[in-house]
Amino acid sequence: MTPDAVAVIGAGRSITFARLSRRVACVCGELRGAGVRAGDRIAYLGPNHPAYLELLFAAGAIGAVFVPVNFRSAAAEIDYILGDCGARVLFHTEVYRDVVGELSIDVPTVLVGDANDADDGAGEIPDEPVSLEDPCVILYTSGTTGRPKGAVLTHGNLTWNCLNVLVESDVATDEVALVSAPLFHAAALGMLCLPVLLKGGCVVLLEKFDPAVVFDSIEHHRVTRMFGVPAMYDALAALDRWETADLSSIRVLLCGGAPVPHNTIRRYLTRGLTFVQGYGMTEASPGALLLDPAHAETKVGSAGVPSFFSDVRVVDAQGEPVADGQRGEVIVSGPNVMSGYWNRPADTAEVLREGWFHSGDVATVDPDGYVYIVDRMKDVIISGGENIYPAEVENVLTAHPAVAACAVIGVPDERWGEVGRAVVVLADGQDIDPQALLTFARERLAGYKVPGSVHFVDELPRGGSGKILKSVVRDLYG
Ligand code: ATP
Repeated sequence: MTPDAVAVIGAGRSITFARLSRRVACVCGELRGAGVRAGDRIAYLGPNHPAYLELLFAAGAIGAVFVPVNFRSAAAEIDYILGDCGARVLFHTEVYRDVVGELSIDVPTVLVGDANDADDGAGEIPDEPVSLEDPCVILYTSGTTGRPKGAVLTHGNLTWNCLNVLVESDVATDEVALVSAPLFHAAALGMLCLPVLLKGGCVVLLEKFDPAVVFDSIEHHRVTRMFGVPAMYDALAALDRWETADLSSIRVLLCGGAPVPHNTIRRYLTRGLTFVQGYGMTEASPGALLLDPAHAETKVGSAGVPSFFSDVRVVDAQGEPVADGQRGEVIVSGPNVMSGYWNRPADTAEVLREGWFHSGDVATVDPDGYVYIVDRMKDVIISGGENIYPAEVENVLTAHPAVAACAVIGVPDERWGEVGRAVVVLADGQDIDPQALLTFARERLAGYKVPGSVHFVDELPRGGSGKILKSVVRDLYG
């Protein structure tokens, strides 16, 4: 035990394990004082901040369920989530005071996150442990496929996910993890915060992802690991600072949450960094596949193998495992898979069948058992009977130096049923003729995969974690 070691750095504070534990005890008292009982949901609207962790651990200790809300949401969306989970109290930080003022729902609110918060209050951490089957958090999926659904993750789900990460990813006791992805997503919580704190390491919380601040933090705190979606890593590599930043403390960079372009991986590997993919989803707390850093180079492009205490299969429409190299749907089972969506038995039954979570993602498996995520089933474009996987086309287009980001969607076509349309954001100061971009694609892809049209936009709609919202792109440009 290392009570004097620093557990959390954030909001201008440095908090030891001993102080964190005392703060959690105080917050247990405050929650009880606010009438919160076991099973109640408490919501949090705020950035990555020590208050988040204090509330999470205190809620967990008294058996309440913690619901971190996407802080980029509009008031109406927050109303929806608070109503859907039946929040007993909404805790928020100062920055969100105005948003809270705009809410229509009638839920008591409490301001948290004061630097002078006491650690000698009356509360204490209860002795009686909660059960592993008890819900710990409800995380709302970002809704790239519709209205947000609350994935209920139990104490057991999160614990087993931590064990998966500890077994697969060599987390050390002197780890310094940079948490710049938002903590309302499962990845920052499950892949970084919880396993690193469990091992006695330190988490550095950034309120938002700002590439310059990320470099500052890595150098200043000698960060050893971080997690980001591909867009974050691309933003870091796009800065001039990328060439000179001191990244010598980094042991592993985890990337996932969206298809990872090969160019992104190569850029980091070329720099001599261990850059590995993971694959998962909120419903799996979230880790399902993780690439062993030892295979970062030999299995480039793979999201790895099933986590130690979980199982992942790639199956055909009959549920049978596909042959090597064939495409199929990724299904996941194990003690890290959620108990269900909050109050949505029909949605739960649709995705959780005989203990397997059906992800809707398409993948292949190589002869060594390494899984390669190809795309989402719902994003696949069917053109003249051929399946086009947009991620493959996007990978080619983003390799063009004039392209900063792109999303390929299907649009109706009289002759082919559907054809691809590339919605493209140009890199700063770059210009390109659409035909030249299509020629570039034609040289690298089968003809039917080449988009029928190109549409230039200033930016692509992205969700809280930075991932492109395909359904919004389809609505806007389809
Ligand atoms: P939903 O549409 O279900 O709301 P979401 O994007 O909100 O989806 P998340 O749990 O945030 O849900 O993300 C999980 C999804 O992210 C996976 O199902 C997969 O499509 C995608 N994903 C995660 N990791 C990877 C990866 N390494 N490569 C490709 N896609 C990935």
